[in-house]
Amino acid sequence: MAILGELSYDLKPVKKGYSGRTLYINLSTNEMKIKPVTDEMKEKFIGGKGFDLYLMWHSMPKDRIIKWDDPENEICIASGPLGGTTYYSGSGKSICTAISPLTGQIIDSNVGGYFGPYLKFAGFDALEIQGKAEKEVVIFINGDDGVVRIEEAEELPEEAHLLTQRLTENYSTDKSEREKFRVSVVSSGQGAKHSKWGVLNFSWFNKKRQWASYKQAGRGGIGTVFKDKKVTALVCRSPRVNQTLNNPADIELGKAVGKEHNLEIVKNDPLQNEMRIVGTAHLPEIMNDFDLLPTENFRFGAHPTLKGDNFPYSRDVFKKVYANLGKGVDSCWFACQIACSHFAKDYTLKTGHLKGEKVIVDGPEYETIAGCGSNWGVWDTDCVLEANFWCDTYGLDTISVGTGIAFVMECYETGILNKEITGGLELKFGNAEAALALLHQIAHGEGFGKIVGQGIAEMKKYFVEHYGADPQFVQDIGMEHKGLEFSEYVTKESLAQQGGYGLTLKGPQHDEAWLIFEDAVRGNLPTFEDKAEALWWFPCWRTWFSLNGLCKLPWNDVIPPDNNENPQKPLTLPDARAKIPKHVDWYAQYFSGVTGRKSSADDLVSMSERVYNFQRIWNVRQGRGLRKDDSNLPYRAVGPVTKVEYESRSEMYDKQISEDIGQDITGKSTEEKISILRKYREDGYINLQDAVYKRRGWSPKGCPTIDKVKELGIDSEDVVKVISPHQ
Ligand code: SF4
Repeated sequence: MAILGELSYDLKPVKKGYSGRTLYINLSTNEMKIKPVTDEMKEKFIGGKGFDLYLMWHSMPKDRIIKWDDPENEICIASGPLGGTTYYSGSGKSICTAISPLTGQIIDSNVGGYFGPYLKFAGFDALEIQGKAEKEVVIFINGDDGVVRIEEAEELPEEAHLLTQRLTENYSTDKSEREKFRVSVVSSGQGAKHSKWGVLNFSWFNKKRQWASYKQAGRGGIGTVFKDKKVTALVCRSPRVNQTLNNPADIELGKAVGKEHNLEIVKNDPLQNEMRIVGTAHLPEIMNDFDLLPTENFRFGAHPTLKGDNFPYSRDVFKKVYANLGKGVDSCWFACQIACSHFAKDYTLKTGHLKGEKVIVDGPEYETIAGCGSNWGVWDTDCVLEANFWCDTYGLDTISVGTGIAFVMECYETGILNKEITGGLELKFGNAEAALALLHQIAHGEGFGKIVGQGIAEMKKYFVEHYGADPQFVQDIGMEHKGLEFSEYVTKESLAQQGGYGLTLKGPQHDEAWLIFEDAVRGNLPTFEDKAEALWWFPCWRTWFSLNGLCKLPWNDVIPPDNNENPQKPLTLPDARAKIPKHVDWYAQYFSGVTGRKSSADDLVSMSERVYNFQRIWNVRQGRGLRKDDSNLPYRAVGPVTKVEYESRSEMYDKQISEDIGQDITGKSTEEKISILRKYREDGYINLQDAVYKRRGWSPKGCPTIDKVKELGIDSEDVVKVISPHQ
């Protein structure tokens, strides 16, 4: 195949978790260069997402807003100093960033698979891809020989599952399992080319499955940017991984806490969530029991009648899905003891051009079950498996597809859409066949799917302009904010979680804060200040995992049994920082052991706070990231929009109006009560915004203050210039 660009570099050992260099590639010019990692980068931005944001800040033009399809937009991928560790669970993540086609601001995803750590072991702490290629290319980073190549892509399959196998074989030095294991592939698919919901698939060769499996960097359409740049795939070959390749400052310290944490997981997971057996598929049943499982476009929070063992997406059902179709206890990085990556083997496809073929399905995970199952009013595991497989191989985000099609279904049910508009698809809740047919249309950019694949924010405008939809109604029921589709939790009864979705950097994704239980179930966040404290601490703490190349599941998905006995009373919020203090302390020791930078638990949060604020400022630079952008959640995320929703929980809502608002409900119609409740809840959200901005050190406009950036040590001239108008 034609080689369009080549760069040779010296192979050097990693030191204390850093390779000390980053790789820049411009696909418009085929220029490649190596940049040093400075002490300032390590000190202030740590790694992972911090490096991504820093590199984007300095490489992209500052004199204008960058659109997602401008050649100057970058995709950055980095692991972090702890990424690639083999003795601490969850230490193999890659963090990707770009300007999103859905939101116009920074999107970031934290993803499994081996690429990020392999990139570091091949010589680079981060990768920047700028420009656009003329023809489809494969970028190959060869960590054996110290060579990077831009190659013209020739005759490769479009389907990501086949492409990943082919490239894993092509770039292994031989066809042995051992050699395939040293290769990781990043790819997308045709769905990413034809919609704004494109993902990146990050692979690892799975010896148990004898198959190159993948995990998805799913949110915000980063795969769409990848395809717009005409990248078919990134491939990295790493030196053989061992315990010392990350060259920690004090390996014994990291190993000691890693061992303790690993043992705790192995002992307690079977008594808690059984993630080693069912992964995140233990969650639908819990969410169903607590009325938090998105059902029929977030109208309801549970199956209409079924709970417990009879629930169609119960833990036991998924145990059979995985066990019947092939044992699937494995992890997306070496030796992770949570080992939540599961798969269904020999699933026979029922739709699409591969109908009748037996395939491996990576997953399904919770979000896919809720998004492409309950949220469509569909209670059939085959539909979930089918959607999961096709989304992955097409390079589509199952969350945006799930939430997007659920919105379309409600528009169909309410008469905004009809068969004439949808090309004959009867998109009623529960119609799995129609939903899957629409999924294929989205991936191929055909028919009604072409409109749907532009995302809910665009659909709202389109349905108003072309089909006469009521603008307020589609705004209320279309579950997107900032342009990003909601991930799969019902937030109506938790104001703190409405903030956990609305006051996020990238849009409504639960990875910054998940406060529903503390707030709505346990009642541990009674005041605005309590909620604001949690909405300061949790986003900072959770950000820390993405600076270091870590998965956050080992932090709080298996809880030490003595957590409640801890003298810090960990579950007695508002002292939010006390949640699982033992684990936070272990992470501080782990970080100290790898980097040699002695750090306390509070130091870790300070590291994150700096990068968190920097990302907010990045969004301000993009003309977003202010109060106006955090406002106007679709009301379905805040309270009941329709009569049927109100009446499904009328006892609770009536009580709130009488007791909390102090209004007499006698003789009031459901519509009147919806309106009273709406005013109260929307005012609550505004008060929450004020409290959170104050706690975060932001101006009433929602912008980090000059004092705050000085305190955080990021008060460079260009940063101050961006934030000055919004003080
Ligand atoms: S907990 Fe699951 S997602 Fe996280 S690293 Fe382990 S296997 Fe991967």
